Amino acid sequence: MRHIFRALPSMDHILASFVEKGGFHGVPRPLVKDLVNDFMDICREEIRSGVITDPEQVALEVLLPRLTAFIRVQARPHFRRVLNGTGVVIHTNLGRSLLAKSAIKAVTEACGHYSNCEFDLSTGHRGSRYSHVEKLLCDITGAEAALVVNNNAAAVFIMLETLAKDREVIVSRGQLVEIGGSFRIPDVMTKSGAILHEVGATNRSHVHDYESAINDNTGALMRVHTSNFRVVGFTKEVTLPEMRALGDTYHLPVIEDLGSGSLYSFEGSGLLGEPTVQQTVAQGADVVSFSGDKVLGGPQAGIIVGRKEYIDRIKKNPINRAMRIDKMTLAALEATLRLYLDMDEAPRSVPTLKMITASPEALKSKARRLADAIRLSLGDRAEVSMKKGASRVGGGAFPEYDLPGTMVSVTVANISVGDLKDALLQTDPPLVARIEDDAFLLDPRTLASTELKLAASVLEQAVVSLTEK
Ligand SMILES: *Cc1c(COP(=O)(O)O)cnc(C)c1O
Repeated sequence: MRHIFRALPSMDHILASFVEKGGFHGVPRPLVKDLVNDFMDICREEIRSGVITDPEQVALEVLLPRLTAFIRVQARPHFRRVLNGTGVVIHTNLGRSLLAKSAIKAVTEACGHYSNCEFDLSTGHRGSRYSHVEKLLCDITGAEAALVVNNNAAAVFIMLETLAKDREVIVSRGQLVEIGGSFRIPDVMTKSGAILHEVGATNRSHVHDYESAINDNTGALMRVHTSNFRVVGFTKEVTLPEMRALGDTYHLPVIEDLGSGSLYSFEGSGLLGEPTVQQTVAQGADVVSFSGDKVLGGPQAGIIVGRKEYIDRIKKNPINRAMRIDKMTLAALEATLRLYLDMDEAPRSVPTLKMITASPEALKSKARRLADAIRLSLGDRAEVSMKKGASRVGGGAFPEYDLPGTMVSVTVANISVGDLKDALLQTDPPLVARIEDDAFLLDPRTLASTELKLAASVLEQAVVSLTEK
């Protein structure tokens, strides 16, 4: 055994050979050294346990390919690109919306250069961070004023903290939802200092429920989009116009948490049942909040629009400073909002809208190209077929709505779908998709045209890695 240990190449020897081969681009040298040490520990263990039995097995040129692969895997960044084959367009775990090209360009500009982030170019003095998007938001939504914070959870918090701290906010029991990631409306309300006054039954709330709950300490009336939850059957919720009328009678602000909040009407695409922000403002909500990275298709942000008197109070809330959005977000948001100035073009220019409104024909053709690419890379080991299926919008919008499309189903001889799914989490880039009817199911809706061949190639990577085991 000792002579095998002695045959192990030295650190200097290994590093010198890396330098000769051009080195590891982008991997800091101290990290390379640490990983070489880790790898040598593995080798020593293999010698001790009898996996390695011959000095020739530890010769530098024999170890090098394995060591190179080891370093490449261990040194890759933790935050990585992923191929989304799930068909869930707004997938919170996979980073929600993809930015439009113009937004990506705006972010690149904003982070590599100085900017007028908080500088007024007409006066040469300090300016407002929000000036870049407030007018756009008002023009698009019809609201009097607007403000942007870090995300919609923060938006809900600051609306309540400003307008209803220590006062009662009346909400229907059917809208006290948890939306995942432990965001629960009742908990956020409590933290904001607002006192939750629940009315109605889980399935039904009436105007008189709200009206009889109003008292001297009532601060606001609130509606919450139920997001990924639906009450079906014998149901009734008070409508926004009814709520507006109550607010007028009792001089109370009407707050609406729209959740996803679309600026684009999907009615022409046959998706019904989600009010747009514009409709919500027109129907008289005083303050409306929604996410920037759900159906809107922009960066993570919480957008608040509404009546100037209320928005001005929210802007002055000192907590606002702790929720202020970053310059990259602002740049991306302005660029995204500009795309909504042309509503006919928006479903082509905003990736989230484009994926939601993709036509069944376009999806079928994409599925065919994906299936062909997979057949080409996996050969006759794989059984590849196309079948009808459904994608989801995600992000709490249109929760029960199936978006019809064509899926690509893959099974590989002698490999279980579970193993395949796991192996695909380790490929470069990883590929996430569904298992259905004991087959690996890829939805081309959330794969870009330019990603189809890449998806086929990582499937091949995964199959090779499983076969080598
Ligand atoms: C998603 C959502 C939120 C939280 O929005 P984030 O942007 O994720 O912070 C709040 N309320 C509703 C109804 C939602 O759907």
